[in-house]
Amino acid sequence: MKYISTRGKAPALNFEDVLLTGLASDGGLYVPDQLPSFSQEQIRSWRSLSYAELAAEIVYPFVEDTFSREELDTILADTYAVFRHDAIAPMVQIAPNQWVLELFHGPTLAFKDFALQLLGRLLDEVLKRRDERIMIMGATSGDTGSAAIEGCKRCSNIDIFILHPYQRVSDVQRKQMTTVVGENIHNLAVRGNFDDCQALVKATFGDRSGLPADRGLVAVNSINWARIMAQIVYYFYAALSVGGPDRAVSFSVPTGNFGDIFAGYLAKQMGLPVEQLVIATNKNDVLHKMMTTGVYDKMSLEASLSPSMDITVSSNFERLLFDVYDRDGAAIADLFEQFKTEPIHFSETAMARTRALFASHRVSDDETCAEVARLWHDCQYLADPHSAIGVAAARLYGKPETPMITLATAHAAKFPSAIAQAGLDFAPPLPEHLADLFEREERFDVIDNDLATVQAYMSAHVAS
Ligand SMILES: *Cc1c(COP(=O)(O)O)cnc(C)c1O
Repeated sequence: MKYISTRGKAPALNFEDVLLTGLASDGGLYVPDQLPSFSQEQIRSWRSLSYAELAAEIVYPFVEDTFSREELDTILADTYAVFRHDAIAPMVQIAPNQWVLELFHGPTLAFKDFALQLLGRLLDEVLKRRDERIMIMGATSGDTGSAAIEGCKRCSNIDIFILHPYQRVSDVQRKQMTTVVGENIHNLAVRGNFDDCQALVKATFGDRSGLPADRGLVAVNSINWARIMAQIVYYFYAALSVGGPDRAVSFSVPTGNFGDIFAGYLAKQMGLPVEQLVIATNKNDVLHKMMTTGVYDKMSLEASLSPSMDITVSSNFERLLFDVYDRDGAAIADLFEQFKTEPIHFSETAMARTRALFASHRVSDDETCAEVARLWHDCQYLADPHSAIGVAAARLYGKPETPMITLATAHAAKFPSAIAQAGLDFAPPLPEHLADLFEREERFDVIDNDLATVQAYMSAHVAS
């Protein structure tokens, strides 16, 4: 399979090269030139597969030029063995035809483990073969950093540098990054905010002159294609468990960068009967505004109770635009050139197509708390604030005849203050493997918000 850029100019790549690339050289994002497509019969035949077996069926067509089926099977079995629930992604029923797909049983208690545990192993395998070392660099305001560190901690050919804003991430989230032990793990607490961290990463990808020349630099944010690919699997898994493909299902997805819900859209394009995909946003509602007005505009960031959805620009939305603009890379390049200085006004056709595929709903902090409380009192279900946003949207858009599945993206124990704010009078305990998190030793360095300083730090700390 070949991968092409949404802006039409960068060279097409195979899977191995896409894995080792972040943004395309023309500023676009890589997508498959053609999606695999599965018949209803084929999908039906997967009903009795384990999660890892199902993942192999779905992922193999994307990676077959780089991995044999046997290699992939081994990697996937290893990847999902670290999850702490035998179902990997269990479904919990909360009301008639309303379900929650729990994606938080991985090492860091958020859905990002599904993709980053796999990404780390795929990278490790490819780097060993090539006898190369790389540096991974990423900025995080919360879940991505710890999931990336956990995914790469055993990869001897990777040095991972994660930048977080000093004193501006929650205690649980910081500890999940800084207590992981490994010579190849480097936590940088930047004197600045999350945008400063992101700007440092972006600038380093633009000009890496201060870094060792013999090391590749790889991004692990959600623009990495392999992350999206891994997330397609659980849409099939969930649908199969409630009667798919013989019955269409709907999904409600707590959304920030549009990576997770885009994977749901791909599942539908690949043959899974999906009726509705609901984009659930918090008050940082750039996508909901776009859905209602047809205008995509920059907004200022507001801190919310669901910090992993606090974004101002939703990067993966570009991948959808590429499809709704008939895969016209030049048109997408023009839109984003325009976006540098003014809002994007989408064409009528593009909006009609997008609205035929997606619904959207915005949930305020107050509504999030009310939903956490309601789920606890009415269903004895403890939801984290992100998942609660998904359920609130699902209740509005669900239809009685179609199973509505909300993706539960994080474990409630990661967000104790939001649970308290919702009026629940207990702190959700961390699962056993993290119960002693607060006693573990932390390792991180505080560093100035300065590009040369950051690159000098990285050069000094890569393994020789
Ligand atoms: C990252 C994250 C999201 C948003 O996912 P996107 O792919 O960026 O849309 C939602 N909830 C949680 C808990 C997350 O960590």
